[in-house]
Amino acid sequence: MTDSGKLRDKYTGCMLGAAIGDAIGKQNEGLSRKDILSNGYVKDYGKAPTGCPGDKLRAGDYTDDTEQMILLAESLIECNGFDAGDFAERMAQWGADALADPARKALVGPSSSVAVARLNSGISWKNSGSSIPSCGSSMRAAPIGLFYTDLDEVEENAALSSIPTHNSSGAIAGAVGVAVGVRCALDAMERADMIKEICVRASKYDEGIGKNIGYAFDLRDEDADKVFEKLGTSYLADETVPSAFYCFSCYFDEPEKAIIEAVNAGGDTDSIACITGALCGARHGIDAFPERWIKGLENRDIVEHIAGKLFEKSLGMN
Ligand SMILES: [Mg+2]
Repeated sequence: MTDSGKLRDKYTGCMLGAAIGDAIGKQNEGLSRKDILSNGYVKDYGKAPTGCPGDKLRAGDYTDDTEQMILLAESLIECNGFDAGDFAERMAQWGADALADPARKALVGPSSSVAVARLNSGISWKNSGSSIPSCGSSMRAAPIGLFYTDLDEVEENAALSSIPTHNSSGAIAGAVGVAVGVRCALDAMERADMIKEICVRASKYDEGIGKNIGYAFDLRDEDADKVFEKLGTSYLADETVPSAFYCFSCYFDEPEKAIIEAVNAGGDTDSIACITGALCGARHGIDAFPERWIKGLENRDIVEHIAGKLFEKSLGMN
């Protein structure tokens, strides 16, 4: 494969990986690590049990994480860069649609719900973001790392992309960490150098998140039960994002294992696995994932098409 073909493959791997992690992880969303371990590790697609936010979705369907990631990618493609006004409009429409859909309304997170209501009441994107430091802007941030090739631009636009829905320092730092992580993974940086880069950039917005991503890396050889207890796995960005970086660091060259670890972390498993999948796919490309995961994914063709467009945009091809 040519260098360009390999890079394109990594773009597709990143977006497919995020969607795959999300779709598998939805089966454990909101469950404790203890309950997950007693039910048995989830390793493939399936229906989420009754009571989980995604319990009305089919096996292989993804959740709000991937829906918002696609929305951000489409906005980047159509505007030829990040445009907060355009993205906020799309979010407002998406939120209204999701909240009106009985199968999807439980998927909309606490910050996104607040932001969508504000945007739809006419409040500007500059003031619509929630102050809850949840992970909604982190879980969707991968396309920023795909579109922009310069790390300063990745950081700046990832921070901006958080503001319409998640205007807390923690959420902004989480989005920066994920987008910068995707770009470093595409560039095949060494694991330790990559984590250092991410920590420095995320710490500019929230020192705690930067520190916890570094801590997650330091814990990479420790037992997962203890690590998830230390890092936390709730929907807060300073737990979700470091836990995803633990899974990625722990299984740096074994993406399938990284995703399975994330899916079974406990707490916000769809988002932890979504972020882990984006990082693994950006590093390894489509081959990172078993055929059954790729074939069983909802809207696989759409996700691949959007990733291809982002690749072309990043090279200035159209
Ligand atoms: Mg979700």
